Amino acid sequence: MNPRFLALVLPLAGALALSACSTMAVAGTPSPTAFVPSASAASAEPTAQATAEPAAEPTPVTPTPVSKPAPPPDTRSGKALNEPFTVDGIVVVSKVHRLSSSYVPAWAAKPHGLHPDVHSAFQELAAAAKADGAPVMIRSGYRSYAAQQASFAKAKKQYDDKTARLYFAEAGASEHQTGLALDAWDGRNRGTAFARTEQASWLAAHAHEYGFIVRYPQGKTDITGYAWESWHLRWVGTEIAAEFGPNSSLTLEEYLGLA
Ligand SMILES: [Zn+2]
Repeated sequence: MNPRFLALVLPLAGALALSACSTMAVAGTPSPTAFVPSASAASAEPTAQATAEPAAEPTPVTPTPVSKPAPPPDTRSGKALNEPFTVDGIVVVSKVHRLSSSYVPAWAAKPHGLHPDVHSAFQELAAAAKADGAPVMIRSGYRSYAAQQASFAKAKKQYDDKTARLYFAEAGASEHQTGLALDAWDGRNRGTAFARTEQASWLAAHAHEYGFIVRYPQGKTDITGYAWESWHLRWVGTEIAAEFGPNSSLTLEEYLGLA
């Protein structure tokens, strides 16, 4: 246990039940008691505001003095893109790599707004989990930019700024906008309470077999920008997920060399 976690987590105790993740679907009732101090390291929170546009855009100096060369384009600037940022074809959406409001995946109207491969992979996963006595279901799949914007605005009212930013994504900074990620649950335990369920243990151990990774692992907040979310699964396909393996604490950022 990294002592840093405790220091950061204790002030948050009692705060929250939702997720970065978190969603319109849970509007209204995050139960304060569900917040469990867990490994939320981290600090480097972005300073973008809860407005329509990610505020972290670089501010090029204009006019640029003729004698100085223009700075190279900063690909990690937080600038919102109309298509997802990718590395070797793997989509990365995060606080650093954001989507604009115009990005709507082609599969947004599919079940849960998920890419068909993601949806079918989850169905296989769910069947296996059920057979193992740990039935899971989808609580939230695709969320539009506007839905995420509303979710974050609500979180900002409900929680202190730091907590809101650890568990809730600003519009454009949520993987849910891609339809490649989902929040799983057991039908009862939301947010941090889910981490204590058999389902969460099962997902940690087996999700990779179906092409999913636990996208925000414990103790990696300084890399992902989000608290540990045992319920947020990102589909990357079985080949890549196999490289993460069971109970992995590897982040996509580390895997892709972005960390
Ligand atoms: Zn999520």
